[in-house]
Amino acid sequence: MKRPIISICSLIISITGYCAVHDYTQYVNPQMGTQSSFDLSAGNTYPAIARPWGMNFWTPQTGKNGDGWQYSYDAHTICGFKQTHQPSPWINDYGCFSIMPTGNKKVSCEDGRRSWFSHKGEECNPQYYSVYLADHDVKVELTPTERAASFRFTVPDGMNYFIIDAYRNGKDIKIDNNRITGISTHNHGGVPDNFANYFVVEFDRPIEYAENMDSIAIVGFKTYRGETVNAVAASSFISPYQALLNLKEAKDKDFDNLVAEGRDAWNDVLGRIVIEDENLDNKRKFYSCLYRSTLFPRKFYEIDSSGTPVHYSPYNGKVLNGYMYTDTGVWDTFRCLFPLLNLFYPSVSLEMQEGFLNAYRESGFFPEWCSPGHRECMVGNNSASVLADAWIKGIKVSDPETLWKGLVHGANNVHPEVKSTGRIGHEYYNTLGYVPYDVDINENAARTLEYAYDDWCIYQLGKSLGKSESELEIYARRAMNYQNLFDKEYSLMRGRNADGSFAEPFSPLKWGDAFTEGNAWHYTWSVFHDPEGLKQLMGGEKRFVAMLDSVFSVPPVYDDSYYGFPIHEIREMTVMNMGNYAHGNQPIQHMIYLYDWTDQPWKTQYHVREVMDRMYSATPDGYCGDEDNGQTSAWYVFSALGFYPVTPASDQYALGSPLFRKAVLKFENGRSLILNADNNTNDTPYIAGLMVNGTDYNRNYITHGMLLDGGQIDFDMVSAPNMSKQINKDSYPYSFSCDEIK
Ligand code: CA
Repeated sequence: MKRPIISICSLIISITGYCAVHDYTQYVNPQMGTQSSFDLSAGNTYPAIARPWGMNFWTPQTGKNGDGWQYSYDAHTICGFKQTHQPSPWINDYGCFSIMPTGNKKVSCEDGRRSWFSHKGEECNPQYYSVYLADHDVKVELTPTERAASFRFTVPDGMNYFIIDAYRNGKDIKIDNNRITGISTHNHGGVPDNFANYFVVEFDRPIEYAENMDSIAIVGFKTYRGETVNAVAASSFISPYQALLNLKEAKDKDFDNLVAEGRDAWNDVLGRIVIEDENLDNKRKFYSCLYRSTLFPRKFYEIDSSGTPVHYSPYNGKVLNGYMYTDTGVWDTFRCLFPLLNLFYPSVSLEMQEGFLNAYRESGFFPEWCSPGHRECMVGNNSASVLADAWIKGIKVSDPETLWKGLVHGANNVHPEVKSTGRIGHEYYNTLGYVPYDVDINENAARTLEYAYDDWCIYQLGKSLGKSESELEIYARRAMNYQNLFDKEYSLMRGRNADGSFAEPFSPLKWGDAFTEGNAWHYTWSVFHDPEGLKQLMGGEKRFVAMLDSVFSVPPVYDDSYYGFPIHEIREMTVMNMGNYAHGNQPIQHMIYLYDWTDQPWKTQYHVREVMDRMYSATPDGYCGDEDNGQTSAWYVFSALGFYPVTPASDQYALGSPLFRKAVLKFENGRSLILNADNNTNDTPYIAGLMVNGTDYNRNYITHGMLLDGGQIDFDMVSAPNMSKQINKDSYPYSFSCDEIK
């Protein structure tokens, strides 16, 4: 297929002088979500100027060194251009350093070197960032590769200074001819004692002024106004020698060619989903969200001089062969970010999975929050979902026995130092069937619900690996443990004491306590693998629908007594005017799709459109809470396409409401699927009917296999739901208790 495309392309070149490959990066706004603060998150993102999943990201820095809010759209001044590995302001950065031109001013301190700038003097793409620094009369341009970056500074007359800042605890700064080297040891935990990021910066001319201030270097060059000074920078977690190898990604390469290379890399990733629609706002939202979905987890491996992938282990401090990916909180991203990667980027996902196996080999546990090593954060053992979903979706790691062993180990042990890795409370859970409320383990109901789903994931993986009945039975049984927390009086999940009584007092509106960053209204739905079982606990479908409806119809009231103040996630729920539905945080993000397990799927279609419309925009205040490393963005990507993986590690996607007139999904197996909705508009959220490859299709879900087979799905979209449409129970998506147990 390549040849005719190239020849058509060269024909176009001969006529027009250039090849019109579609540029999807034009729709991406890396500043989406950057107008955030400690009190209210509109995403808590920063403009990640990066290659997809690149080891090093770059960002203009408006915040002080060490401040998690490193770029705020509201800020007026910039103090550096920073190599960053930060997944979120709450987790903060590690191994960072910055470069700042200061024109004729020889001033190194953070505040002294700041310059005013305007967003009107800024250009921001995934692969290219530029800004004019007014106080220094310097235009800065930067473009990254996976592990290096190239800079072009347009400078004023006279002696021009550049500050290289290795941050707190930076050391071993050396200045030699045109090169500055040093070590950033900045970190917030999750690394062994020997952690270091070895960096190198090379200018295109010999350094004429040099001052070494231990963790800061000042260098200078004499120039004329309008002259360009070029520099390249790179780093390595392995060694100074490896940093020089990594520098080759950018060294001796033309700046504009590197920008084009970066654009191509992004277009390869973004172009896997081709949207054809007149609604430009929706296209901008879609590709901005797809960009955010393809940054994390990032590469933490490097390529040695023989071309072999090697990594510094953030787990044991050794340099070892093989892949490593880091900077993701699995509690957030198991839900739909990893399923998105498994669907569209399985070759990259395979590297990630091999990396997670390496993490287990090097530390005894799969990661739950790696930043870069195990971090104490959040709850659950949801690495089981990440690993099982990949395997079920056909992403086969080289050593499935180690995969199985690692999951079984993690389900029955807890990391000796990092209690959120493995399973804290496994002794209680394995004997009582839940983590009790009245023992010294917080957020115990959330842990129980997630462990039960994780057990189902392990069961699915074990079945696929052909494990024996006796090995599997225990996980099938524990997968039903969610039942142990259901309180019939309230029809909600509730903390439970070791003696079997429910926790007192109980407020369904209380955030935290037995739950994690949410209340019983949010967490009751954390039965990803068995919505039908949950429905039966509630007393049947009518009651189940009433409970789903209630989430939206109650006022946004809350009880914050566990925290003592309304945490930002609470505030983000209240300001959205959608009742107790809290899309700004992860626990409830799948809940809208649960109407697909009823005869009222039109309510899913109604609410997903509302969320896509009101809670996302491709603007600095574009998210309704923490974006969280691709999870909240991947929700939009899936939802805009019209389906969502409510149950990772099953092969099903619950149907929603496709947003576009046409979307073409291009899979790595070479097949394409066309999602067609000719009559679609913003006012037609409801699916009147659909056809798969020309045949009527009446289920509330589609399967992974249907997608990968390619072909065409035609949606008939309408402005009013057909509420009297008969929906057979066979149309409902997967539930463990009816599809496997009965
Ligand atoms: Ca969150």
